[in-house]
Parts: sequence; structure tokens; C-alpha cells
Amino acid sequence: MSKATMKDDAKSGVSRTGKRIPGRFRGKGPDRAFDPGPVREVLLPLLRAIEAVPDSTPDPLTAEVMEPLLRRHAKPGGGFFSRSQLIAGFRAYAGQERFRLDEARFRRRVQRRPVRTQSGVTPLTVLTKPFPCPGKCIFCPNDLRMPKSYLSDEPGAQRAANNRFDPYLQTWNRLAAFDAIGHPTEKIELIVLGGTWSFYPEAYQVFFVKRCLDAMNDFGAGCDGRDSFEPATPDFEEIDADVLGDQFTKNPYNQRITQFLTSRQAGRLVVPEEESDWESLLASQHRNETARARCVGLVLETRPDHVDEEEVVRLRRLGATKVQIGVQSLDDKILEANRRGHDTQATRRAFDHLRRAGFKLHAHWMANLLGATPASDCEDFRRLFDDPAYRPDELKLYPCSLVETAELMGPWRRGEWRPYDDDELLEVVTRCLPAVPRWCRVTRVIRDISSDDIVVGNKRSNFRQIAEAEIARRGQRLVEVRQREIRDEIFDEAALELIQTEYAAGSGTEIFLELVTESDRIVGFLRLSLPTQTCFIEELDRNALVRELHVYGASVAIGAKSGTHAQHRGFGARLLDVAETIASAAGYETLSVISAIGTRDYYRGQRFSDGELYQHRALSPSQEKSPQPARLSGT
Ligand code: SF4
Repeated sequence: MSKATMKDDAKSGVSRTGKRIPGRFRGKGPDRAFDPGPVREVLLPLLRAIEAVPDSTPDPLTAEVMEPLLRRHAKPGGGFFSRSQLIAGFRAYAGQERFRLDEARFRRRVQRRPVRTQSGVTPLTVLTKPFPCPGKCIFCPNDLRMPKSYLSDEPGAQRAANNRFDPYLQTWNRLAAFDAIGHPTEKIELIVLGGTWSFYPEAYQVFFVKRCLDAMNDFGAGCDGRDSFEPATPDFEEIDADVLGDQFTKNPYNQRITQFLTSRQAGRLVVPEEESDWESLLASQHRNETARARCVGLVLETRPDHVDEEEVVRLRRLGATKVQIGVQSLDDKILEANRRGHDTQATRRAFDHLRRAGFKLHAHWMANLLGATPASDCEDFRRLFDDPAYRPDELKLYPCSLVETAELMGPWRRGEWRPYDDDELLEVVTRCLPAVPRWCRVTRVIRDISSDDIVVGNKRSNFRQIAEAEIARRGQRLVEVRQREIRDEIFDEAALELIQTEYAAGSGTEIFLELVTESDRIVGFLRLSLPTQTCFIEELDRNALVRELHVYGASVAIGAKSGTHAQHRGFGARLLDVAETIASAAGYETLSVISAIGTRDYYRGQRFSDGELYQHRALSPSQEKSPQPARLSGT
């Protein structure tokens, strides 16, 4: 066993630092703090009442159904039982009582905030530790207690800081929190945020991903390694965080973070406890392939000018399937004015490399940057989809918000920049959103910054709804993916239609295959790339490539049956067969897939065999067995 493996293996109970600090970094798992024993007389009848709700009532139960039950069976001292307490009670009594429902069904019934998992997987976000960033972007917050661009009062950032940015603790505690409120933890999309991923040392990157996987592996196996070590990252709460953006000189975030880390870590930015090797990562990946809590997607966040061929291969070795990439603007003058430190040529190159390697591309684009106008923003946004070099699969649309620690404070005070007023911002967003094609998913419209942090500008967190209502009032319809997801709607399988949209992207052709209902709601989709050039990754050569396969429906546990929702009904297999037919007819001999660590087993069952970084299905020359999809025009 390698040194790193020994140090990092919490399951083995070996401490990473030798210091034991029981309980300090445990999450607030409500089911652990709550003892169902003393409240059995009240809680058990409530569980029975929930169980007695007719099976024809859709899961999860709505507030209209749940609230009268909770009120009728209130806690002895007053107040209502929480979802996590209901689940904890169900678990505690299940040994002695016979329940009609199994635990998974009961959890689905009482689950809250289902929207988080409606797209089929449970997203779990973790943050890397504060670290220097190569960017000098003037709109970027400089909160010294956070990785660059994050603010310490954002909920996800607070969770990360509470866990001292340790990947194992963040992941384990978040899984426990999901489990406690009834969210499935079997299929996890791991989203790693913070600064520029590609700028962190490779050994830290490997360590970070490995420890997230270790937490999933341990959690799924009922093993808790949280007490066996203390996070190696120093507590950034100690740092003097009093920063004013317009008083910055020469990128002080990097200087002060470097000074803080090196003074506490014997001159190093990353200490040996935060480093792992590829061999130990491979072992953790291998365990996760069949773990109960599987990583079915790994998302990393970086800058265009740090994406070269070598970096793309590294991302793939880590197990990444999607890259969040800061585009911000497609105008070189705007990029320069905002000190992005790269031009549009770098963005074009990064998109090309990532697409050729099969990654999903999740772009960040900003309105209202220094030098932009509402008219120039609308034009810039159009380029994102008109130019085949870009055409991202997912998009975050962030109008620039002014925060006190950003250098944009200077231009604002000098009158060189101002935030758009309400009408201008609404006009930009209502003109941009309808331009998004049916194969792109708009994940966010406004960045979720606390209104206390915004010095001037839009403070309405429901701006997306306002814009969507205005678009509907104008008689326009949005077709982007998120608008059309089936969510937990019941649908008629026999009436589903298969639609194929073809468009040029990068150096090849993209095919977007969708299974849609009569009202154009998406049940599942597949992104197929048909490249025309050889790939710098030899294993892909000239193969057709499945970049994404997604079937909607509330996230269903792997192996569980779902009678009414989209997952586990064979839609994925159907879409793969259609992709095979199209690829074969186009003359490709192999269909490859950029599988996540936790989906490798699924693809093995779909006649794919393991390659080094991808999985592959050999194609026969003629394929006539799949139905021909209806075709739509390009973008
Ligand atoms: S690259 Fe990203 S994180 Fe770094 S300064 Fe620019 S916006 Fe901030």
C-alpha cells in the first residue's frame, strides 16, 4: 500500500494527522440528534397516517396533504415533526413494527424540495480550499475566507468552511443531510467549485476527488470515517477578511492567501496530507463503481486559457464528465476591460478540446460587464449559439453584481460603470432566454448572492421567474431543456415521440436526441457527437461519441422499480440504440461514451466494454432496428 493510501484511508481508521478530534466536524444530522423513543406515542400514529394516504397520491406528498397530518400529530411540547424526524422515527420503529411501505417509498412520500432531484440525480456541491487564482477579473469577489469568487455567507460556502474545506467531511456530511431529509443518495452528481481547478497542484486535485469518492464509498457502506482525522487545511476564519475592492493593488487576494497558507504550512501551499497519487485514486474509483452511493457525474470548474490537451486528459483521468467554464464574454475588448486575462481565441480552443474529448460544456456568461451595454450584451449572447465554435450544452447567465471586495468598486465610484436598471436588465434577459435552443439547459439566470453583499444592482433573487413571466406575456415560448423537463409528471409512454436535432459544433456534428411527450416535455435525451477529425486522445480516434445520456424523473435508487416515472423504464437503452443506428449509418465503427465512475456498470450492461478512459461499443455496418426520429432544424 502506498504512503498516500495509508494516510488517506479513513475507512481503515488510520488518522491522516494523528490527531483525534471526535465530533468536531460532524454535520448536524438531525436524525442523530433526535431520539424517537420518548415520542413514540405521538410519532407512530403520525407515521401510520402518512402510510395510510392512498397509493394513488403522487410522491412526495404536497403541503396540502402533509400539513393537516403534522398539525393533528404535533410534538408533545408544541411544534411539528420535521421530515428528517419522520424518517428517523420510521427507521427506529421498523424493527418492532410492521409497516406496509418500505423505507424507500416512505422517504419518497415525505421528501421535501423534490426539485433538487427531479432531473434524475442528486447534486452534491463541494468547495476547494482558498487558493491563488491566475485570474484578475475585476468583477470577482475577494473574500479571503473563500476560494476565489465565492462569498462566505453563501449557504454552500458556509458548509464548506464549517468542514474546513475537507472533501471527505463535506461529502459525508452532505450525504447525511440529504439522507435525513429523504433525498436519495444512490446517484450523486459531484460538483466541485472554487477558483480555477486547473491551477491547483495535481496532487491536491487527485487528493480532493479521491476523498470525495472515499466519503461516498464509506457512506454507502454505513462506515463513518469523520472522527479519524483533523482537516489539514488551516481555519480561514482566522484570516483578516477586511477587504475593500477599490483599494486593491496588484492582486492582493493571491498575495494574502499565499502568505496565510505558507505561514501555517511550513512554507507550502498544499501540505502532504492534502496530496494523493493516481494509484490510490484508481482504487477509490474502482470501489465507487459498485458502491451504494455512486458518483454518476463529476463536474469541475476552470478557465478557458488553462484547458490544453494535457489538462483535458487529466480531467478525464480524475473521472470528470462535465466542465463548468467561464466564458463571461465573447468580445475581446470586454474581456480586456474586465482583466479576464484571456481572449476569445482561448475560449474557442478550450471548447474544441473539451468537446472532442466528449465533455459536457457548462458555460458561464455575464451581462453588464464593464464596457458592455444592453444592446451589445444581446448581440454577444447571440454569438454563443450562432457561432459553432461555442454552442454550450448548459448555461449560467449571470448579470454582473457589484460586491464590496471586487475591484469593480473603483470604476463604479469613478462613474465608469453602473448596474443596469430594472427595465434594462429585464430587457436583456427577456431577449436572451428565447434565443436558447432546445438542446441547451439554462441552469441559472441570476447568481445566488445574498442581497446584503450586493452594493448596487439587482437584488431580486426571483428575477428568473419575473423574466419568464414577461416572456410568456409577450407570447413567446422558451424551449431550453430546463423548461421542458418532465419532472415528476405522469405521462403516456405510448405517445412519446423521438425527436432529432442536428447542428454543427466545433469540428463536427452534434445530434440531440429527445424523447418527448405530446406537450413537448422531455423524458430523456442523448447528446451524440459525430466528429470529422481525429482526436488527440488516441482511444477515441474517429469514434462517434455519446457525451450525455439523461433520463428524467425523480431520482430513483439504482435497482429500484419506478412505476410512474421515467427512470429505469429502458428509455436510456432505447436512446443508445438510436445513437448506434445513426452513428453506424454515418460510417462510424465504434460508439464511445464518456461514462462517469458510477455509470460504468450500467454501460457494461448496455454492451459497452471498458477502455482506458472511455467505454466503447463496436458497431455493425448496417443498423435498421431503431425507429427513425423526427428531425428538427439546426439551432
Ligand atoms: S478566473 Fe474566475 S475565480 Fe479567478 S478571478 Fe476570474 S472570475 Fe474570479
